[in-house]
Amino acid sequence: MSSLVPSPTLFIDGQWCASSDGKTRPTINPYDASVIMEVDEASAEDAQRAVAAAKRFFQTSDWPRCSCADRCTHLKRMADLLQSHKAALAKVETIDTGKTLGESEIDIDDVTNVFRFYAEEASKLDQEKRITGPLVPESVKSLIVHEPVGVCVLITPWNYPILQLCWKLAPALATGNCVIIKPSEVTPLSTVYLTRLLLEAGFPAGAVQLLTATGASVGPVLTTSDDVDLVSFTGGLATGRNIIRSCAETVKRCTVELGGKNPNVVFADCDLEWAIDNVVTAVFVHSGQVCSAGARLIVEEPIADALVAGVVKRANEIVMGNGLDPASETGPLVSKEHLDKVQAYVELARQEGAKVLCGGTRPDPAQFPHLAQGFFFLPTVIDGCDRTMRIVQEETFGPILTIERFPAGDEETAIMLANDTKYGLAGGVQSRDQARAERVARRLRHGTVWTNTYGAYTAQAEWGGYGMSGNGRELGSKGLDEYVEVKHLWSETKPEMMGWFKGARM
Ligand code: NAD
Repeated sequence: MSSLVPSPTLFIDGQWCASSDGKTRPTINPYDASVIMEVDEASAEDAQRAVAAAKRFFQTSDWPRCSCADRCTHLKRMADLLQSHKAALAKVETIDTGKTLGESEIDIDDVTNVFRFYAEEASKLDQEKRITGPLVPESVKSLIVHEPVGVCVLITPWNYPILQLCWKLAPALATGNCVIIKPSEVTPLSTVYLTRLLLEAGFPAGAVQLLTATGASVGPVLTTSDDVDLVSFTGGLATGRNIIRSCAETVKRCTVELGGKNPNVVFADCDLEWAIDNVVTAVFVHSGQVCSAGARLIVEEPIADALVAGVVKRANEIVMGNGLDPASETGPLVSKEHLDKVQAYVELARQEGAKVLCGGTRPDPAQFPHLAQGFFFLPTVIDGCDRTMRIVQEETFGPILTIERFPAGDEETAIMLANDTKYGLAGGVQSRDQARAERVARRLRHGTVWTNTYGAYTAQAEWGGYGMSGNGRELGSKGLDEYVEVKHLWSETKPEMMGWFKGARM
């Protein structure tokens, strides 16, 4: 791994460096629990140095003032580099996260599009907008101009390290901000690799700082510093709340993309085999470690038993294994700690009176010896659920599907159930009646709703949550707005005495 991700792993003030106190942390391969490598762990002092360097560069360099079009040449180059490094980068991502190589490659293709999209989208900001019309005197030149926000801290989770980082990086850098990158301590390796690519793509070293660290060690500095202007966070609800509170002290811009407990509503008119495939894919990709996973099946009674039986059969057939093995359909959970959390949720479901139809445990080591060392958890289907249960309302972030049923023809109950969540990130509506599917989709209080499919996204469309799934949006043109200050320049071209106070000589 050292040839792909060399040490040291901190990048501060234009230099790769170890942490000030020499601390490191092992990063673990979730497939077999082996140590991949030691990663430098930034201290609070390192975080202060990174903030100071970013601020200095923002204040003294041309970077914030050059045109978006100039900066966007680096974005296009970055897109090309992502493609030419795809094989190696995907391998790093797979070893560190456990996801399959195919998934890692899809992530890299997706973020290549994100860099290309923002290269075009940000260039539009170079065109200043002149306000004219009856409310603006003819002698006035009224201009709306766009400027970078300043020093932006980008904090990412462990499940999609490349993807979540690039959703932030591309718009932040396109608009001339300086970024401080803080990946998850659980899966930092692809971010270290990406930072090297950023420098190769021509982004100035001063515009990029990288802190591999825990949230506890650098979070307080990054979220309370007067010299940080924006925090963009993707992660869990509890951490998000803390970050919002910290940012409030200095009134910094703060966007949070948080968890989800996403309903997938299936009507009885669906083709059965198609619906089984849809439900299994929506929940079990990446072993359910997906913020938008369709973890809550809400199914119309007439099809329910057959659908659930089919989903159980397919869940039992999913091939788990090493993400590097092309035969693997899904990998392990990311850590022992996370495995224990998912296991505890299954026990909780049993205590709540639900019935575990399949999975609910680690694979049997006698049957699957090659999975014995890793953090694998069997795809799990839990029936007999109702909306009051914690297993239905809380994000397990594992391969767990809960089943709720609604009476035949009762569209309103389906909508009520799908909206009965504190979250509101994503959901699905499956019906051969396209008009009904779209009608129900419009009633769901979720940031993205798929009808007759699940999980797709595009760089061109906004992503984000209602309710406690977060605030703000990533991707699309609003994803750019997060990183831009809007300034109004009102220029009087024929100055006169203003004459407001009596003492003025007219
Ligand atoms: P987490 O909240 O534990 O950690 C996320 C990041 O925050 C990590 O980098 C962590 O080190 C950092 N952090 C922790 N405490 C901090 C602090 N006090 N100050 C600053 N940073 C701190 O989340 P996780 O377990 O890594 O990720 C899983 C969560 O992310 C799930 O809830 C999932 O739904 C969510 N997620 C949401 C989206 C989305 O688009 N809404 C996408 C991916 C993941």
